[in-house]
Amino acid sequence: MLTLIELWVIVWSKVVAKVNRQLWQAPINTTDYFDKASRAAILVYALALQDRQTLSDSDMKAAFKIKTVNRVSITKWFNKELALSLLNYQHAAKSCAGDDWTCVGTLNSTADLLKQAEAWQTNIPPDLSAWRDNLQQFTRAYTDEQLRLAALFPTVSSEIDTFNTNEWNGDHFADRQFLLTFDDGPTKTQGHTDDVLTMLAANQKSAVFFVLGDNLQNRLTKTDAPTLAALYKNQCVAIHGWEHQSHAKWANWQDSIKRTQTLLTTILPKQDAPTGSFSPLFRPPYGQRKADSDAFFQQQQLQVVLWNLDSQDWNNQVNSDDILNRMLTLMLIKRHGVLLFHDVHPKANAALPILFNELDTAVKWQHCHQL
Ligand SMILES: [Zn+2]
Repeated sequence: MLTLIELWVIVWSKVVAKVNRQLWQAPINTTDYFDKASRAAILVYALALQDRQTLSDSDMKAAFKIKTVNRVSITKWFNKELALSLLNYQHAAKSCAGDDWTCVGTLNSTADLLKQAEAWQTNIPPDLSAWRDNLQQFTRAYTDEQLRLAALFPTVSSEIDTFNTNEWNGDHFADRQFLLTFDDGPTKTQGHTDDVLTMLAANQKSAVFFVLGDNLQNRLTKTDAPTLAALYKNQCVAIHGWEHQSHAKWANWQDSIKRTQTLLTTILPKQDAPTGSFSPLFRPPYGQRKADSDAFFQQQQLQVVLWNLDSQDWNNQVNSDDILNRMLTLMLIKRHGVLLFHDVHPKANAALPILFNELDTAVKWQHCHQL
């Protein structure tokens, strides 16, 4: 059973921030092009963070339809995002040359970043005013999505924060380094999972698939274990629990993980195998896990993997073009991290080949074997 507060998370999160990447009238397929678009996007994002910092607890309760606000968690999130944005801008500014309007000089602190972003707004070329308006709207809506999660944490746990150092979300990745992840599969034979695997192979990309034990077991009734292992060739398979339930409230959450771990280790060889391989990673459904679960995960030798780039591809209000726009924009703003998709839906399969092509050599894709 979901509690009321968990139900609100699901209902409210149907409202999703959308953006139109085409208003930025230049390519992003090289490091220099990517850096320029990234500098501009980070400055707009910094202004959105500043704008949303003025929200009071009662503003948030009304806007996010929640009953309590964890101000400590919100302050922590703002500070983290501003510090990351400063670092990201500094990385992006390494390629600054000439009198580029996206280059605001050396930034030494987050206060500097906010001050320069404020002054920089007059540098935006008039033909990019539609781009600015659209991105301003998106970054504010995106910030609200994140603030809502921060306000509810840890009463409702999520990807917004970690409980210990055995949990990670991609914030620590190197600049322009990204990892693909897919949740909730596998689908039935010849379903969306098969399509995603074919698409990744064709694009020479690797990903971590966080599978549900129940789905994997169902698939095993139709095929043998070696065929299933070969299906995930060159990819990594990890644990999403036996069923798609919150692992924060479920009495059998430990069994759910152990059972899936046993099934996966029976089917798949260890990490680095050329067939699909088992990666000792767990991703909690909805990002929800217990605050004190560290000892269990250490004992099972599992790391808890969250994400920092949410495609929202499960949401029926967004199509594949929406998630392409959203992910390209978030990648410019965040500059590194873990992308979340779902191989039980067809949208990533349509969006990703375009995303790979648009970014081309501008970013580096983390191989799942080298995690
Ligand atoms: Zn899931």
